[in-house]
Amino acid sequence: MEYSKKTRVGFIGLGIMGRNMAGHVLAAGHPLAVYNRSRDKAAELLAKGARWCDTPGDVAAQSDVVITMVGFPRDVEEVWLGPDGVLSRARDALLIDMTTSSPELARRIAGVAATRHCEALDAPVSGGEIGARDAKLSIMVGGSEQAFAQALPILKLMGTKVVRQGEAGAGQHTKMCNQIVIASTIMGVCEGIAYGQAAGLHLPTVLQSIGAGAAGGFQLNVLGAKIIDGDFAPGFFIEHFVKDLGIALEEAKAMELELPGLALSRKLYARLIEQGHGRLGTQALYKSYGARA
Ligand code: NAP
Repeated sequence: MEYSKKTRVGFIGLGIMGRNMAGHVLAAGHPLAVYNRSRDKAAELLAKGARWCDTPGDVAAQSDVVITMVGFPRDVEEVWLGPDGVLSRARDALLIDMTTSSPELARRIAGVAATRHCEALDAPVSGGEIGARDAKLSIMVGGSEQAFAQALPILKLMGTKVVRQGEAGAGQHTKMCNQIVIASTIMGVCEGIAYGQAAGLHLPTVLQSIGAGAAGGFQLNVLGAKIIDGDFAPGFFIEHFVKDLGIALEEAKAMELELPGLALSRKLYARLIEQGHGRLGTQALYKSYGARA
């Protein structure tokens, strides 16, 4: 595939992340075909000139590059390998899954793609809704060097850091490293804020100090500030994070690696889902803290 502004792009999955990411592809001038489970999420892109397709297969039939950004591995499986899926119609195309999904599924998809004369990349992202909106995502890619080189101009429309990590599945493994770091970090953020509250401190003032020191970072500065404001609206759904932590734990188990922080974080988040909080943002972990011992 020779990249140009005429390269036809298909985008499937237009939620919090996907609709922002697809918007950058459209704004760069590419013809854009879109599909999403609920059509209403496509309205804004359709008004700006994107074309609606009725199935993932239809998207693939009209695209040189297909990008997916759905929710769970089961959604990836349906959209790629289902009867009307991307791989039922794709031919000589570059296929990129940006969902956070399992490394094993990424390798399976790459294998099927090869039988359709297609190249597949796994390219999960970090940077959240803000990173998607501002085209400042960090994109971690698994797949062949040749496919990576072809994908680079399009991925750069959505991210500022685009790095190839290895063969198929390596992008997803890297994303698991990212989620493992966040799993323990967010527990620390909640505990620090719970402690500050119990000590009677003025929390926004505490954040001014500790957010500017060695503890600073996205989890503390952005999500910690939301916790202090009592804002638990989703940028990143708890149910998606629990999905990621489950994948990471399974992969770690297969590698005979014990990760106690990851296991505890998953347990606390799973409890929040049981309490009906799965569609809140990950900062709602704070609801597990704050009670005095
Ligand atoms: P989201 O808002 O739920 O978006 C997912 C979209 O995919 C939804 O619009 C959904 O349709 C659509 N979809 C799901 N299954 C589908 C299917 N079978 N066919 C067609 N469309 C389907 O979630 P998100 O926050 O954008 O996250 C997307 C992925 O990125 C997840 O894997 C998440 O873990 C990962 N991620 C998220 C963030 C973040 O901060 N939000 C950051 C990094 C990575 P409906 O509209 O019908 O639900």
